Amino acid sequence: MTRETLAYAAQAPTTPLAPFTFDRRDPGPRDVAIDIAYCGVCHSDLHTARGEWAGTLFPCVPGHEIVGTVTAVGSEVTKFAVGDTVGVGCMVDSCRTCPSCDAGEEQYCTGTGFVGTYNGPDKHLGGHTLGGYSDHIVVDQDFVLTVRHDAADLAAVAPLLCAGITTYSPLKHWGAGPGKKVGIVGLGGLGHMGVKIAAAMGAEVHVFSTSPGKRDDALRLGATDLIVSKDADQMAAQAGTFDLILNTVAASHDLDPLLACLKRDGTMVLVGVPEHPHPALNIGTLVFARRALAGSLIGGIAETQEMLDFCHQHGLTSDIEMIDMAEINTAYDRMVKSDVKYRFVIDIASMKQAA
Ligand SMILES: [Zn+2]
Ligand SMILES: [Zn+2]
Repeated sequence: MTRETLAYAAQAPTTPLAPFTFDRRDPGPRDVAIDIAYCGVCHSDLHTARGEWAGTLFPCVPGHEIVGTVTAVGSEVTKFAVGDTVGVGCMVDSCRTCPSCDAGEEQYCTGTGFVGTYNGPDKHLGGHTLGGYSDHIVVDQDFVLTVRHDAADLAAVAPLLCAGITTYSPLKHWGAGPGKKVGIVGLGGLGHMGVKIAAAMGAEVHVFSTSPGKRDDALRLGATDLIVSKDADQMAAQAGTFDLILNTVAASHDLDPLLACLKRDGTMVLVGVPEHPHPALNIGTLVFARRALAGSLIGGIAETQEMLDFCHQHGLTSDIEMIDMAEINTAYDRMVKSDVKYRFVIDIASMKQAA
């Protein structure tokens, strides 16, 4: 049993996204069926749809920043009921038995690896998973999140499911909070959430950016200061002063000047994987101050719920620009130029209106 789903898909790396219909499974005993209201647009969507990362399976329906309403639940579902407002992020399943899954860190699943919301193996219908650029999705209850924000905020909540958790998890793990000086490198979709969340955690937040023009925005979002990272004098003035730096920039860049801004025992966390490697590190910068360079991938399901509740409690959402589904290809072109403040969100209802 299946249900026809309206979506937008890329059929090949070189073709634009276009209308596409396919069948979702009917909810099984542990499944939650969701009518999607909004889906955020992540850089991973663009890289996958355009085949810029190896392994894209076509047709590709991207989208892993999903907010919607529960329309049906399976007989064993206890966590959700019809009418609930829910979210789905980057994962829809994992092995559930490996040490990472046991620890609630499903994003680091070493059993089967986590099942991505799109481009993952679909163990129910075969083939591959298709994501949130669609009007409907069916997800195991263990990978569905509760959204407590007001209805008026739901579009701006969608990006929390990837951009929010990608920044929340490392900020929490490495102890951002009162008395800590935290740097956020890059003020884009991820970085702007990093600033908001780190400030809400009580840290003193500074933005590192190549764009001095982003200063007003950095301050508005909660930062104390914007440090122009290509200005050697400004960087030298910050040497040895940061407890934690969250680096959201995926483009290849020199990490040494940023590492030099860390205190003894400070850590810089990378959340972007560069297409071309970063230049080799000066290892002395690490060794002579016991500094650490680390990485972090999204967050587990329990932590994603914690992040959503934290954002609700602190009144945090993403700064968004809402688009119709039909505008997605233009939005991708603008994202490549970093021309978005700070996240596109698709109004999924626009698909039905256009149909
Ligand atoms: Zn994402
Ligand atoms: Zn696992």
